[in-house]
Amino acid sequence: MKTIQLFGMKIDSLRMSEAVERVRSWIDEPFERMRYVVTPNLDHAVLFQDRADLRAAYADASLTIADGQPLIWASRLLRKPLPERVAGSDLVPRLFDDADRRGRELTVFLLGAAPGVGARAADAIAKRWKHVRVVGVESPPLGFDKSEAETERLLAAIEQAAPDLLLVGLGAPKQELWIHRHRERIHARAALGIGAVIDFLAGERQRAPVWMQRCGIEWLHRISQEPKRLGKRYAYDAWRFPQLLLREAFSRKAKETDAATDPEVAYRVAATASRRSAV
Ligand code: UDP
Repeated sequence: MKTIQLFGMKIDSLRMSEAVERVRSWIDEPFERMRYVVTPNLDHAVLFQDRADLRAAYADASLTIADGQPLIWASRLLRKPLPERVAGSDLVPRLFDDADRRGRELTVFLLGAAPGVGARAADAIAKRWKHVRVVGVESPPLGFDKSEAETERLLAAIEQAAPDLLLVGLGAPKQELWIHRHRERIHARAALGIGAVIDFLAGERQRAPVWMQRCGIEWLHRISQEPKRLGKRYAYDAWRFPQLLLREAFSRKAKETDAATDPEVAYRVAATASRRSAV
């Protein structure tokens, strides 16, 4: 599997269709362990620098997809281009489409979003995808992750439903940390940390228009929807991200790590070294 190293995060270099295939294989193949997907964007990249717990959650993920267009631009600027953006908000409907196309039932558990939103998302899913069955919906209260009783209740509900896919929409980094902390006990084939996807499926929130997604300015749309919460976050990211970019551009270490994971880069690094020693 080809990966690149970006701001310390190991990101899978693949297209949307390959990501769908990968998750589908976890569901179809004999069960080994629950696998999960993380969906880095620019904000994750900044959080990743400061939080060891998020780095640990990333280290155990089975798939890391580049959710944000700015990460794709950064990968190109740093000459380790990712093929395309694979947004979590697109991956979920693509997995549902895939189940319908194959006529194979896909069971899904929705964890997160405000009370009532999960049920509306379940209705919308039932209307749009014939082969996708929502087998559980939970909207835990704020602070639930600090309550052992609530955690046990949720894990039991998931175990009883035993879904193929657990969609965890709690926002970052809460969703990644929750999945990671309970990965041994989550009875699902696969889990995805997917931010506001449950809201999108329910029609509670609208995604940015496609032209904004294509231009890589989906974040502008998000700020306009939640200026108070997101304005501060993006201002901080706008200050930190150029620093990360510069550090990465001038760091040889990142290139060497790539060489360890990517045979093509290893070959190019070795070729350059041998040309230098020949001179
Ligand atoms: N959310 C939740 N419980 C929490 C915090 C957030 O269910 O304790 C939900 C919230 O209702 C929304 C989603 O998590 O559906 C956050 O999505 P968003 O994409 O805004 O996340 P972020 O950008 O913060 O990662």
